[in-house]
Amino acid sequence: WDMFVLAKLERIIRPSYKKEDFALGKKLGEGAFGTVYKASLVKNKGGKSESELVVKKANEYGAVEVWMNERVRRACSSSCADFIHGFRETLNKGKGEEFWLVWRYEGDATLDDLMKDKNFPYNVEEMIYGDVNELPKGPERENRIIRTMMRQIMSSLKNLHAIGIIHRDIKPQNIIFSQEAKTFKIIDLGAAADLRVGINYVPKEFLLDPRYAAPEQYIMSTQTPSAPPPPVAAALSPVLWQMNVPDRFDVYSAGLIFLQMVFPNLRTDSPLIQFNRQLKRCDYDLVAWRELTEPRGNADIRRGFEILDLDEGVGWELLQAMVRFKGRQRISAQQALDHPYFIRDGLLGTTLLQ
Ligand code: ADP
Ligand code: MG
Repeated sequence: WDMFVLAKLERIIRPSYKKEDFALGKKLGEGAFGTVYKASLVKNKGGKSESELVVKKANEYGAVEVWMNERVRRACSSSCADFIHGFRETLNKGKGEEFWLVWRYEGDATLDDLMKDKNFPYNVEEMIYGDVNELPKGPERENRIIRTMMRQIMSSLKNLHAIGIIHRDIKPQNIIFSQEAKTFKIIDLGAAADLRVGINYVPKEFLLDPRYAAPEQYIMSTQTPSAPPPPVAAALSPVLWQMNVPDRFDVYSAGLIFLQMVFPNLRTDSPLIQFNRQLKRCDYDLVAWRELTEPRGNADIRRGFEILDLDEGVGWELLQAMVRFKGRQRISAQQALDHPYFIRDGLLGTTLLQ
């Protein structure tokens, strides 16, 4: 009930918006459920200037995304893009309704944009730390930048999971670099599930992104049915969480991101799809995949394994713990953060790059 009162109170004290308040600019993205624009406020409401905004116009599934963003804003706001407001618009002439979601504009670059830059991961190092050149360019320095990025992503994931939200669409396109916070934040809660209340309205036909989806993708959508009434769900959900370890779905996706950070040749679509095929053929055994790939690998492949093998192979060990066939055998986001990969400083450890 306190959540309900809070929501009511907020409706009174927070400024509320309608679509006339926004001037839409450049289109940033278009998905199956909505279109995303850069936007600004037409007139100043509540005295505070919100010049750089992002607006998503979504179909009826937008209601779920509004719900998820409201929960995240209250419970773990720094993990995701700053959510400002969400509202429903009834369309003219009985054309149904659409949902508008408004966030602060966090910056121009997603992790996908940054990874596709030839200078990755040094381009990120520059944005986070400015000009730090105390180490020569090479695997050790790259490892430390990658570790910083992975730590940010895994702690955002841990925070989402701690409040019972599973993202289900973790990929570089849904991770944005926040210019202001100088960290990565998670975006796009359009496919997320809330285990505490059982909200999971993503229709069955909707395919999760196959490039990043864990092998249990179909099991999840059938075993977690659409929302039961709240009291039942509240009693059920901890059990559900235990049984299906659905949070490990996100961990698998994050493992693939780790892999892409480490191996330059896997940062584009078709090599990643090929990797997925190879891994499946190896029965999701990364050691077998390594035996297959390493002997005939090019410089990119050798570089990747060199990074993973640093510090007695802690990176390689973490990757294996994240990318496993069975969700239950995968490490959780919290356990990953406690893994020696993140604890150890490395031989040339410095607090600067942590
Ligand atoms: P969808 O994938 O459903 O189209 P997203 O929420 O992922 O919608 O947004 C699409 C794109 O818009 C993102 O990949 C990103 O480039 C950009 N974007 C989304 N939210 C923000 C934000 N808060 N700040 C800056 N850019 C954003
Ligand atoms: Mg997206």
